[in-house]
Amino acid sequence: KGNDGKYTVSLIEGDGIGPEISQSVKDIYKAANVPIKWHSIDVTPVIKDGRTVIPDEAIESITRNYVALKGPLATPIGKGHVSLNLTLRRTFNLFANVRPCKSIQGYKTPYDNVDTVLIRENTEGEYSGIEHVVVDGVVQSIKLITRQACERVLRYAFQYARDVGRTKVRAVHKATIMKMSDGLFLSIAREISKDYPDIEFDAELLDNTCLKVVTDPTPYNDKVLVMPNLYGDILSDMCAGLIGGLGLTPSGNIGDECSIFEAVHGSAPDIAGKGLANPTALLLSSIMMLQHMGLNEHAEKIQTAIFKVLAEGKTITGDLGGKAKTAEYAEAVIKAL
Ligand code: NAD
Repeated sequence: KGNDGKYTVSLIEGDGIGPEISQSVKDIYKAANVPIKWHSIDVTPVIKDGRTVIPDEAIESITRNYVALKGPLATPIGKGHVSLNLTLRRTFNLFANVRPCKSIQGYKTPYDNVDTVLIRENTEGEYSGIEHVVVDGVVQSIKLITRQACERVLRYAFQYARDVGRTKVRAVHKATIMKMSDGLFLSIAREISKDYPDIEFDAELLDNTCLKVVTDPTPYNDKVLVMPNLYGDILSDMCAGLIGGLGLTPSGNIGDECSIFEAVHGSAPDIAGKGLANPTALLLSSIMMLQHMGLNEHAEKIQTAIFKVLAEGKTITGDLGGKAKTAEYAEAVIKAL
């Protein structure tokens, strides 16, 4: 927070539709008088000592500001390219990925009243990147589970539940099959639950969770689901499907020091530069960011305006069945503030 009372936040506009949807966020924040100054940074990777890394200035900016908002980054297809998203997660040790999915009034899906929150371990598990060929035709991929990473994501899940007023934490696992790795995750969950007597704890098998969530998601509305990396990756997109897809879903990547909030959709190269993109997911990610920063009044005000415009359904973008351009939608949100 500077002397002028404003917080500086790093902004990675991203590729494809990234700059267009970032512009909407900037316009709406200006109109809503949010005490935030944006520091735009470029994370185009550079080669340093033979490794692909994020430029130092970008790392310094996020380290200094603690909080960043991020548009989608295109990952080039082909050998040798490390995903920038993964690099960012590793650079800042963003150990928990928080994915809330809440039904949006005015956007009808087969499910009403969805309100799930999923927290995914973000650094290890099946995504440790440890793979090797044993002999020709036989490949081994290692699912790495450590006490340290389990503890911090589980503790975060309990603390998050307490902070947002959810009464239950449920660990999702396959410890029946992966007795040692998921078994460790589960036993640490049980241990940590003892430190949170006000939060009810239970566990559920992943396949069971999938079946039950798509049958009726409402029993999950008072819970925080927490799970290892791969399960969280898949289940969080499944929950996004319940509310109408990735265009409406925000996320937060939480670390010990820095946190990066981002829309979960990609750079949408098919519609980039045409003013057709829906900025809602990035906007809702920025709302999570405001809540994380304790700017709850501003968060509430902007969120209410977004939901009002979506519920009215008059000025919505093409992906939601409307005709509005990105800037027209942003303008409607500003009018609704
Ligand atoms: P995508 O999410 O970019 O697009 C899938 C479909 O959804 C497209 O038809 C697109 O037009 C539409 N769409 C996505 N976001 C939209 C929005 N805000 N408004 C309206 N329509 C929207 O997925 P993809 O095509 O598989 O990936 C494109 C690029 O994005 C790839 O390079 C991929 O690596 C990258 N990507 C980045 C992230 C990230 O930065 N977090 C996530 C996923 C994909």
